[in-house]
Amino acid sequence: MSGDNKKGEQDPSPHPLARRVCGCGCENIFQPINTRHYYLNKQHANFAYNHGARKENQANQNRDEKIQRSNDHILAKYFKSSPANEVTIFLKNLTLDDFDPAYFVSSTEIDGVTFFYSYNYLFTIYKLENEEIIKILKQ
Ligand SMILES: [Zn+2]
Repeated sequence: MSGDNKKGEQDPSPHPLARRVCGCGCENIFQPINTRHYYLNKQHANFAYNHGARKENQANQNRDEKIQRSNDHILAKYFKSSPANEVTIFLKNLTLDDFDPAYFVSSTEIDGVTFFYSYNYLFTIYKLENEEIIKILKQ
């Protein structure tokens, strides 16, 4: 890159930067005016922002929902394995089934204990003699 580009420098090179392809995907080639000039103009920058950000958000949302649905199925499987109206089991049984406790729909605190909601169940996780235990209840 160029060195000290002091203000008022005489005879600056008219095109110090290489031409580049607009970052929005339109394939227009333009002359950038500085190193942070990535788009042909503001409209192209907005287009890139809206489409890129929206697409990524949608992809993340789909991924999150997929994991939450999977979690809910796994909670259902273990909840239904017992006739009791709450099931207490080693968390590792569920994580072996790909349960991911980092994903939940919402959470709430009941008597100082944090409960996490899946679509149809709620669960809480605690330690007992160095083993993580999950308690599952139906909503
Ligand atoms: Zn463009």
